[in-house]
Amino acid sequence: MAYVKKVPLRKCAGCQEMKDKKELIRVLRTPEGDVRIDLTGRANGRGVYVCRSSECLKMAQKKGSLSRSLKVPVEPGVYEQLLKEIEKIEE
Ligand SMILES: [Zn+2]
Repeated sequence: MAYVKKVPLRKCAGCQEMKDKKELIRVLRTPEGDVRIDLTGRANGRGVYVCRSSECLKMAQKKGSLSRSLKVPVEPGVYEQLLKEIEKIEE
């Protein structure tokens, strides 16, 4: 019997597609209430996932889905910061 390895899937807060965790970036709300990108994917706090794409982040901003998932208001300045980070690693 073949063993099928289960890939952990997460939903992108922008395009709403389910994707392999490795294809997404984790946006983290730290216990201090800061919102930033978690490149390790393991930092403490509440996380939400977005594709490695500035388009998806912009969609998420339009929908307000980061604020909703992280249960904290995400300021436009924070999105700008996230966008800059994503542009660096965008595929
Ligand atoms: Zn997406």
